[in-house]
Amino acid sequence: MAKEDKRLVLAKEDCIGCGICVTVCPTNLKQEKDINFDVDAEPRAIAVDNGQAVINDDLCIACGICAKNCPVNSLTIEVVA
Ligand code: SF4
Ligand code: SF4
Repeated sequence: MAKEDKRLVLAKEDCIGCGICVTVCPTNLKQEKDINFDVDAEPRAIAVDNGQAVINDDLCIACGICAKNCPVNSLTIEVVA
């Protein structure tokens, strides 16, 4: 299924801001391999801000790895009609 057919969705009321999604995301990990990557300046596919996960739809490839690792199941991959 192509990226445009799927979307990562966050249930904000369930997210506890643990950051596990941020650390397991392959898009984020790929960014970190770049020696010039500035974690404070560049957007991530998923980040934690003010105790809540924040998804960047432009960078997220909807692979679902974060959803599989979220301890409270607050992330889901939805099929976009
Ligand atoms: S979405 Fe899940 S893994 Fe990510 S910060 Fe929230 S609770 Fe943690
Ligand atoms: S679905 Fe994949 S690319 Fe998107 S935030 Fe989660 S782990 Fe990263």
